[in-house]
Amino acid sequence: MTTSTSPAFAIEPPPITTLLIEGSAELFPVHRVFCIGRNYAAHAVEMGHDPGKEPPFFFFKHPSNIVTDGVFPYPSRTADVHHEVEMVVALKWGGKDISVADALEHVYGYGVGLDMTRRDLQGEAKKLGRPWEVGKSFDKSGPCGPLVPAAKIGHPDQGRVELKVNGEVRQEGDLNQMLWKVPEMIAILSQYFELQPGDIIMSGTPAGVGAVTRGDTIEASVEGVGSMTVRVA
Ligand code: MN
Repeated sequence: MTTSTSPAFAIEPPPITTLLIEGSAELFPVHRVFCIGRNYAAHAVEMGHDPGKEPPFFFFKHPSNIVTDGVFPYPSRTADVHHEVEMVVALKWGGKDISVADALEHVYGYGVGLDMTRRDLQGEAKKLGRPWEVGKSFDKSGPCGPLVPAAKIGHPDQGRVELKVNGEVRQEGDLNQMLWKVPEMIAILSQYFELQPGDIIMSGTPAGVGAVTRGDTIEASVEGVGSMTVRVA
């Protein structure tokens, strides 16, 4: 006799993407991965854009792009893969039209992530007015460290953001250089999307992006949040 009414899946359902949580055996289930573009003026300039405070724009990575094992396999169809170190913001509550004043109450915690980018493919897409997915949302393009709950560290709005390759500093900036602060990002995103618990936001990268090659060791850190080491395989 069977009492279950749950449907059978025609194929094995895909796994849920999860992030580790520092000091906890629990996992954080990832729903969507929003990324903000050009959120540090010096990075906008290095990419050839005006650093004026234009309205923010967003793109997605696919949740399955997130990896937590410290390995970034050099991807296919590119000769120019760039590192972008970013603070990750993880949401515990969703909502629409969230106010800037209420936005931080929706945050579960923070982490360190990499928005790895096939810059050559992204550049070609920009030139042709095409979508960015092949440049931004490829397999394993989002290495992420463990989350640290806001209940432990608060809501960092300043602190050094740094990335080293093979021990040499490549990117440096400060959270206080973000053009759009975390509460503004959440509020604006919630005007376009009904945010959901489990959504994460990659909050933009400071200046100094550049290429990696196989065998490189990337060390990424956000002061007050944490650090992680990723090997390019
Ligand atoms: Mn980025």
